[in-house]
Parts: sequence; structure tokens; C-alpha cells
Amino acid sequence: MSAPELTKILPPDTELSRPFWEGCRNQQLLMQQCKDCDRFQFYPRIVCSHCEGEQLSWQPVSGQGSVASFTIVRRGISKAYEAPYIVALVDLKEGPRMMTTVVGCDPESVAVGDTVEVQFEPWGSDLVLPVFSKR
Ligand SMILES: [Zn+2]
Repeated sequence: MSAPELTKILPPDTELSRPFWEGCRNQQLLMQQCKDCDRFQFYPRIVCSHCEGEQLSWQPVSGQGSVASFTIVRRGISKAYEAPYIVALVDLKEGPRMMTTVVGCDPESVAVGDTVEVQFEPWGSDLVLPVFSKR
């Protein structure tokens, strides 16, 4: 018996995260911003992770950031995850740190501190993911 083919893993569709994914579909990176302390946060939460403020609004961010850390995955878990690829932590200019990937370059060329900017790639039939490319 062979293992079942793993398809692309999709994030759960929740009311809280829906504006983020809708932004990605519109080629726009949106983050929650706190009206009390003005700071941004990611991932989406019901209160501010900095001050526990409850007045959060979705705002576009620059999509500019830098690679804080990364690893190169050299063995994909299925055909849906073609290796090699990068799993990276990117620090956005606005503050939040995102787990993402860096695309459009040789994975061996990526380094901590590289400046990157967001782009958007389809993932599955209805989802668009924010990914990053080197500038
Ligand atoms: Zn706050």
C-alpha cells in the first residue's frame, strides 16, 4: 500500500483571518493595526499583542522586509511541495515577523539580512499566498 498523495495544505478559513486572505487575492498585504498603540501585528488576533487593545483595523503595509532566518527544505513532502524551497522568517518594515518563503532565486543565494519584498502566488484553487523575492 502506498502513502496517500498529500495535496497542498490550506489554512483554515476563519472570520478573523478572512481580510488577510482577501487582501492577498487583491495583491495587497494587509496587517492588523492597533488604534491604541499604532503597532502592527501578524498573525491576526482578537486583541493587540502589544497592549491588549481591542481596536484593531486592517491596513496595507509596504511589503518590504528583511530575512531574519531561513532554512532550505531539500526534500519535499509530496509533489505539491517541490524541493528545494525556502522556509523563511521575514521581518516586515512595519514590525511583524512572518513565516513565508523566498522565491525567484537560487535557494543557496539567500542570506540572513537580505532585503525582500512581497509578491503573491496562487496556492490551490482559491487561495493566494504572500511570498517574498530578493530586491
Ligand atoms: Zn496596541
